[in-house]
Amino acid sequence: MASEPVVAGSCLCGDIRFEITPPSTAFRYCHCSRCRKVTGAAHAANLFVPAAQFKWIAGETQARRYDLPGAKRFAVSFCPKCGTRVPHKVTGTENMLIPAGVLDGTPDLKPDGSIFWGSRAAWFIETPELPKAEEYGK
Ligand SMILES: [Zn+2]
Ligand SMILES: [Zn+2]
Repeated sequence: MASEPVVAGSCLCGDIRFEITPPSTAFRYCHCSRCRKVTGAAHAANLFVPAAQFKWIAGETQARRYDLPGAKRFAVSFCPKCGTRVPHKVTGTENMLIPAGVLDGTPDLKPDGSIFWGSRAAWFIETPELPKAEEYGK
């Protein structure tokens, strides 16, 4: 079997960089209220990769991590310079959570489900229902 290519990721300012090596474990959209807060978006796009297949390239010690008090494992890590979410190890597991939007390449998995669907924002519209524009639109 040919070895899968590594996929690089980086924050907006480039101070924090990493690489993941397939195969990934899971890829899901999460609509929970916590993910909506930390992403500022309708849902998170969470890719999970075994920690052994994750490598920091730059800025590991710069990343700031916030563990939500009282939560079993909810945490968020981010670049303190540009605010971009960056990967973090999921407490109590051997997986890294990769916010998929920070990847510079294409991972081996596509999302296979939307979780916490019952918690989705009241304003959420499924994207097939929306007109598409290459850039800003009207
Ligand atoms: Zn940054
Ligand atoms: Zn969530």
